[in-house]
Formats: sequence, C-alpha cells, structure tokens
Amino acid sequence: MRGIRARLVIHFGLILLLIVLVLEGLFYWAVHTYYFGTATETLVTRSTTFTNFINKYADSYHLRDKARYILENVSKEETAKVEVLDLTGKVILNSYGFQTAEVIETPDVLNALQTGMGLYVGKSPYTRERVVAVSNPLVYMGEQVGVLRYSISAEPLYAAVYRIAMYGAGVGVIVVLFAFTLSLIIAKRIVGPIQELTRAATQMATGNFSARAKKQFNDEVGTLAEAFNYMAAEISKNEQMKNNFISSVSHELRTPLTSIKGWGETLISGGLEDKEETMLGLEVISKETDRLIGLVEELLDFSKFQSGELKLSTERLDLRDIVEDVRIQFGLRAQDEGIDFFVHIPPSPVPVQVDPNRMKQIFVNLLDNAFKFTLRGGSIQISCQTDETHVKVLVSDTGEGIAPKDLPHITERFFKGQSKRSGSGLGLAICKEIVHLHGGQFSVSSTLGKGTTVTVELPLAQSLTPEEKSV
Ligand code: ADP
Repeated sequence: MRGIRARLVIHFGLILLLIVLVLEGLFYWAVHTYYFGTATETLVTRSTTFTNFINKYADSYHLRDKARYILENVSKEETAKVEVLDLTGKVILNSYGFQTAEVIETPDVLNALQTGMGLYVGKSPYTRERVVAVSNPLVYMGEQVGVLRYSISAEPLYAAVYRIAMYGAGVGVIVVLFAFTLSLIIAKRIVGPIQELTRAATQMATGNFSARAKKQFNDEVGTLAEAFNYMAAEISKNEQMKNNFISSVSHELRTPLTSIKGWGETLISGGLEDKEETMLGLEVISKETDRLIGLVEELLDFSKFQSGELKLSTERLDLRDIVEDVRIQFGLRAQDEGIDFFVHIPPSPVPVQVDPNRMKQIFVNLLDNAFKFTLRGGSIQISCQTDETHVKVLVSDTGEGIAPKDLPHITERFFKGQSKRSGSGLGLAICKEIVHLHGGQFSVSSTLGKGTTVTVELPLAQSLTPEEKSV
C-alpha cells in the first residue's frame, strides 16, 4: 500500500491512536483518583475522628495506657490496621495486639511528628506492600507524646483500578482497530476514483483517445473526472477534425495539380500548335495555380494564428474604399453566375483603424462563400450600419443556408459543411480571428434553404480627421 492511501491511513491511525491514548490516560487518572480519593477520605475521617476522641477522653493517660485504651475502644468493624507509635516512630502496640520493635518512618508518621496529620500512599518499607496510611499526633496534657496511625493495604485498590484500566484499554484497542478499518474504507473511497482517473489518463497517454474516466461520486474528484472526459472528448474531436482536414487538404491540393499536370501534358504533346487550345490550357493552369496559392495562403495564415504570429499592420482608412474594391472584384463574377449583387455604402466616410489587406481578405472570403453557396438567380448584398462607436458590415445571401446543428460550429477550425462546394473549413475561422484581432465581433445567422448573413462589427476610429470632417 503506497501513496495517498498509506498517508491517509497512517495519519488517521496516528491521530486516533493519540486521541485514544490521551483519553485512556485521563480515564485511568479519573478512576485512580476516584478509588484512592474515596479510600483516603474515609480513612482520614475515621482516623481523625478517633484520634480526636482519644485526645479528648484519654488526654491524661500516658502513652502506654493510651495505647491500651485505644485498642480497647477501636471499633470491631475497623478494617484498617491501627498502630500507636512513640515519638521515635517505634510501634508501641498495633490492633493485632502485638508489640513489635518496628520503627516506622514513612512520610505520614514524619508529618504527624512534625506538623500534624500526615497522609501517605506508597510502599511500606518492611513488607514492600503498597499502603494508604494516615497518622495523627497523640497528646498528653497538651504535649505530643506519640502517633496514632491507621493503614490499609492499597493492593486491592490497585487491583480494582488495574482491572478497570484493562477494560478501558480493551475498548481503546477496539476503537483503534475500528478506526483503522474505517480509515482503510475511507481511503479506498477517496483513492479509488483517483486511480480510475489515472487509469484513463494513462490510456490516453498511450494514444487511446477513446478512454474515459468513470465518475464515481458527486464530489471534487467527480468534477475532475467530468472535466477530464470533456477534455478527452475535445481531443478526440480535434484529432478527428485534423484527420478530416489533412485528407481534405490533400484532396484540395490534388485536384488543381491533376488539372495542371493534365493540361501541361496536353500542351506538350500538342506541340503548342493549336493557339486556341494552348490559350485555354494556360488559362486553366493559371486559374488552378491561383486556387493552389489561395489554399496555401490559408494554411499559412492558419498556422500563423495557431502560433499567435498573426500580426496586423493597421492604418486609418475609410472602410467604404475596401467595400468598393471587393464590389469591383466580384461584380463580374456576379454577372457570370447570374446572381444579383447589391452594395449599399453609406454616404459619409466610415473611418476605421484596420489592416487593409486583412480586411479585404475577410470580405473576399465572405463573398466567396456567399457566391459558392448561392445558385443562379439568387442575390447577395453588402450593407453597412453605423452608430456612434461601431460599424456593422453585413454580407447576406439567399443561398442554401446552414443547418441549425452546424451553425454553432461554422467558425471552428477545420469545420466544413456537407456541401460539395466546401473548401478547407478554415476560411471563417481565420476571418473571425482577424476580426477579433481588430477588437471587433463576428457572427453568423442563417436559415436553411433561405440564406445566410455574416456580420462583421468593427470599432470606429476615434476622431475624424479634418478632411473627413469637411465631407
Ligand atoms: P470553406 O473553405 O469550407 O468554405 P469556411 O470556414 O469558409 O470554409 O466555411 C465553413 C463552412 O460553413 C462551409 O463549408 C459551409 O458549409 C458553411 N458556409 C460558410 N458560408 C456559408 C454561406 N454563405 N452559405 C452557406 N454555408 C456557408
């Protein structure tokens, strides 16, 4: 067992062990205090009451007489050992009726000899038995003449405390085991989903992009699994798109190349004698070369904006000039293809700070799409709307339109519709990027079968030049 699980179990275990040990200690202390407190208290009460009684009623007796008197009067039920000691600590008499030469110098006796009542819980120096002893001074005519000592064996008390402490320790061990098992289960619940995520990530790292992580709980790791799956889906989608892109780009490149090669060979074998055929061949070659250049430029732009190198060289100009340029460029095509082409330009200048080539590229691209997807008899229109701060240029067509399910993806890189006329799928993605670089907005609205409108919104240049003002 390694990693997070081991750390969790060890940390949980250590914390719990510490808590259980502290609680056990407190419990032991409480039981010990209770047992010994009660025993000591009753012993102190009994011995002090009895000593007071003796000092009061046998005050005038000498020590030996006192001792006898004491033994005669000590209660029959008294369980403690009662001893009478002289001032040197020597036992004069004990409740067993013996006179021993034993000298007791335990702290309780020393205390009773010096200051007053003495209490001692500890080992008896002779028997090594643990005892609780209480000693009180005995007085003769107001003078201390000896000590009255009560003692009981503490062994049964220790045994009782030990037994209870053992029960406590047993419960503690059960709690620790239970907590250990619980921490194992919790660790498994935490680590399980992470392991599942790691499994999926490892599979993805080896190239299996279809790997997905199972979301097990509705928590942070669950959210991570969702995010991971979303990322995996995006990567798969991108992979798919890239593959589609490569195959469509290869196809796009091959078509003009085949036609160029075909015409090249035809012209060579014909020996350039038929002038008309030669011209036709050269025209096709030139047109197809243009197509190739266009495609390669798109690819270059795309790779530039992928690496963030797409830079603008902006200048202040009248947007109407650019629209006018593309109107001229597409006028002939509109005639050829039998499409009505309208351009509505505002009467006053539309000052913008833009890169003219990039701006033209946008409108050429949008119009090229509009022409591609509009049939003979349809119409295409460019119009401008300005307000205080912005200008909107709308490129609308009455072409085939875009399916609602495709519309949100239309400006994604490599996305292209089902139509045979679709190209590399990069055009709109590049347009959108260029508009954004100009600080503008790009949007497409469309109704399938009715037509499409692409809106390019750009910020107007700040103040008008004197020249513009005079217009
Ligand atoms: P493409 O090189 O394929 O034209 P674009 O990025 O310019 O790439 O366009 C992406 C797709 O959006 C096209 O393949 C086409 O399906 C759809 N589309 C773009 N403009 C129009 C339009 N004016 N009318 C209908 N469909 C359009």
